[in-house]
Amino acid sequence: MGKDDGFLKYNRELPKARDPKQRINDSNEIYTEFPEEKTKIQAARCMDCGVPFCHNGCPLGNLIPDFNDAVYDGEWERAAQILYSTNNFPEFTGRICPAPCESSCVLSINKPAVAIEHIEKAIAEKSFELGLVKAQPPVRRTGKKVAVIGSGPAGLAAAAQLNQAGHLVDVYDKDDKAGGLLRYGIPDFKLEKWTIDRRLAVLEEEGVQFKLGVEVGKDISLRRLHRKYDAVLLAIGSTKPRVLNIPGNDLKGIHFAMDYLTLHNRRVAGEDIPAETDLYARDKHVLVIGGGDTGSDCVGTANRQFAKYVSQLQYRTMPSTVRTPDNPWPETPMTYTSSSSHEEGCERSWGWLTKEFVGDENGHVTGLKVVELEWKNGREYSEKPDSEKILPCDLGLIAIGYERPMHDAFKSSFDIETDQRGNFKLKEWQTNVPGIFSAGDSFRGQSLVVWAISDGREAARAIDIYLMGASDLPSKELSK
Ligand code: FAD
Repeated sequence: MGKDDGFLKYNRELPKARDPKQRINDSNEIYTEFPEEKTKIQAARCMDCGVPFCHNGCPLGNLIPDFNDAVYDGEWERAAQILYSTNNFPEFTGRICPAPCESSCVLSINKPAVAIEHIEKAIAEKSFELGLVKAQPPVRRTGKKVAVIGSGPAGLAAAAQLNQAGHLVDVYDKDDKAGGLLRYGIPDFKLEKWTIDRRLAVLEEEGVQFKLGVEVGKDISLRRLHRKYDAVLLAIGSTKPRVLNIPGNDLKGIHFAMDYLTLHNRRVAGEDIPAETDLYARDKHVLVIGGGDTGSDCVGTANRQFAKYVSQLQYRTMPSTVRTPDNPWPETPMTYTSSSSHEEGCERSWGWLTKEFVGDENGHVTGLKVVELEWKNGREYSEKPDSEKILPCDLGLIAIGYERPMHDAFKSSFDIETDQRGNFKLKEWQTNVPGIFSAGDSFRGQSLVVWAISDGREAARAIDIYLMGASDLPSKELSK
């Protein structure tokens, strides 16, 4: 095997996914083991190009060619040092990141990209296996205290960094367990929850304290925390669901996707939640409305709940048919490409507009009236004459995005400025209230885990500077 010409010799190969028919019978991650030797070969495909665009493609600025080189040489400790220098939680991103780094890989110009996401997961898992990930409490404490509100990836990354800088960090979360959407949004078949518990144990041993089941704004006011701590970080996510404003949306059997996914994740975690509720898919015709990550996670979950039939509706058409240069809509890959959930069984329809939910005499949904759209260009459409039809639906799951963070309860404490969308407005990670910062979806809008980790790291550095006047914490912005 020769590294220099690895990209010419070897093809991209990834761990195989288990058979869809078999894997829907459990909630475990879908990928099988991949031998170490094969991972080294995948690392050998990295061209170590002069200007590695993958660095910029990754929101964390991961030093990808460097860790590929170390993996190829079998130097796992070196690989781990390089990876952890920019990413606190590669065990999460290595599993569920849509890998913008791979889209930026120079090799992908005319060959399949280097399997960066898989290599990242391999390094993360090898680091735990070799005992390289262990608690490293800070050598000295600064005497400053920071409250992090929200224990999703943004809050956890910030807590890890702030603790390393020597500050005492308390992480508050309204949920009974930490992890945010990693735990209660994303299903186990994408991310098994022991990965979160394993990480939390390290953070706790390093000195981060978790105050769970505490809703800030209800159980304790933000003003009180502001007084009690030297700085506060709002990492509360952006989970106010967008409402599908059509007649009949209040019929029984129509639910927000997150209510459905959270309940299922709790059930898989062993909580005593009866399966035979209105929010269970067994023998039902499940109709998922919306086509992003949340929508496809509903599809995979419904198949694991023995749904009779799963279909998914999006009002946009396939981009190849109508996309024009003036199309302003985001063309996220998930909207059009298939996810692993779609392989498990789902009828997908594009270019239909939802008109009205229809129900039976008991007020339960039975169908969704839709009409086909004809797109003139990327912006304008008209309804196709005589195309109206009713799609069967016993369980309707609304997955059409999220409006903004749930910050109404903070209003009695402070008038924190928000942008037009309702996300926190920041200047160098700080809100208009001195000492109150934000990171992750709550300022960015619903985004990605990799961005949340990146924001958490950058906000931690800003807080460190606010508290100490300077900071040794790393910053992607500085290393550019
Ligand atoms: P969150 O993860 O939302 O965490 C916010 C935390 O704040 C929560 O724990 C919440 O309980 C807590 N909180 C809120 N208000 C309060 C309060 N008042 N008091 C105390 N605690 C509070 N991204 C990917 O990269 N890959 C994927 O495959 C992917 N799949 C997804 C699937 C679904 C179903 C969803 C919904 C999102 C998915 N995402 C995915 C997006 C990703 O999960 C988010 O971008 C990321 O979790 C945001 O992190 P965060 O820390 O900003 O917020």
